[in-house]
Amino acid sequence: MATRPAIMGVGNGLPQLERMLSPISESLIPGNSLNVGIQKVTIFAAGLLNLEMLLFRTCILLHLQHNWRQTIRRLLLITRTGVPQHLWSIVELENKTRRHNKVSESSPTVTLRVGVSSCLLGQKVRYDRGHKRDRFLSDELGPFVDWVPVCPEVESGLGLPRPTMHLAKNGDSVVLIETKSGLDHTRTMKAFARRRVRELRELNLSGYVLKKDSPSCGMTRVKVRNEKGMPDRNGVGVFAAILLQALPNLPIEEEGRLHDARLRENFIERIFAFQRLNMLFTGHWTRQQVVAFHTAHKLQLMAHSTKIYRDLGQRVAAVKDLPRTEFRDSYIGDFMTALSKVVSPGRNTNVLQHCAGYFKKQLTFGERAELTDLIHDYRKGLVPLVVPLTLIRHFARLYDIDYLKGQYFLDPHPRELMLRNHV
Ligand code: SF4
Repeated sequence: MATRPAIMGVGNGLPQLERMLSPISESLIPGNSLNVGIQKVTIFAAGLLNLEMLLFRTCILLHLQHNWRQTIRRLLLITRTGVPQHLWSIVELENKTRRHNKVSESSPTVTLRVGVSSCLLGQKVRYDRGHKRDRFLSDELGPFVDWVPVCPEVESGLGLPRPTMHLAKNGDSVVLIETKSGLDHTRTMKAFARRRVRELRELNLSGYVLKKDSPSCGMTRVKVRNEKGMPDRNGVGVFAAILLQALPNLPIEEEGRLHDARLRENFIERIFAFQRLNMLFTGHWTRQQVVAFHTAHKLQLMAHSTKIYRDLGQRVAAVKDLPRTEFRDSYIGDFMTALSKVVSPGRNTNVLQHCAGYFKKQLTFGERAELTDLIHDYRKGLVPLVVPLTLIRHFARLYDIDYLKGQYFLDPHPRELMLRNHV
């Protein structure tokens, strides 16, 4: 028969929840669900062995399921023996960090500027006055960025509504033509794109999201009709091609590819990193600033490319011997090339194990085993990256490991986006 559990801490500032639960503690049996106000809470922590780690995992699971503000309200830990105080300290520490995020040096939540195909934000600029609003961009990423919407077809004067267009092969070149009339808009679009991209360069964008499949905005695999009128998926939109060529280091992605969790996480990581790079190299920069920047990104670089991580390390060590412009341009180029490589679970595992080495002497046998298990679980795909990372962040703070606390690998983008809950 299941033991009746006692109700223990429900987090600071939630005494009313505790009061609400007291009369119904009889029903707090593992596996039961009950309604707490409008929340449905499942009881699963009572009466089990290895309680501490179970509760820690409970914190993480709740963290994964909801955004933080909701999580702290929903956090309900029920146990026969009580909630160990240090587990609450993890929760409280996370909560404080979250509040501090807006100004934290290790948390890149400063607003950044990102170009976007206008129709993806819901603007009715498509040929039929429709739009292609993307909810991730408008609702989730939107609060963290200043969008710079561009509709090349409307802005170049093609009007609304307008005839449909496509790319077509014409000898060695590719042209943008109206599907029905065959009217060629290639020159107009190219002239517009060169001018608009010059303006965009001045805005110091941190990234760009393009609409897939568009003969103007598509970045890859856009249909190009061959001489027989058959489509080959090997084209690039006319505007996109000029953008890609003019701003080779700028993180650019299509909205379609952003539906893949790993590509999405990689893109968001790159736009925040590119913003930090721009901030570093805008105005007069010093050797000390470069060394500090590079140090904070070491583990991030190591995860993406060991070779570039080593090369850049040597270059930073010799920064005072190199011409400034040459150093800056090559550092930005190689840094962004490294980050464009999507990190595999195996590479992340190596870096997680590397992190664990920084506090292996301080950990108890049980803590070390738990961390090792979580890293293995991540490698096997049983838990997402955020799970071992959360424990590493906790130990880095607990044992005050400055080097780890300053690493962007642990916090490359706002946690509210929950990107590492899915990779
Ligand atoms: S895909 Fe590009 S050109 Fe087409 S409607 Fe969207 S923003 Fe405009």
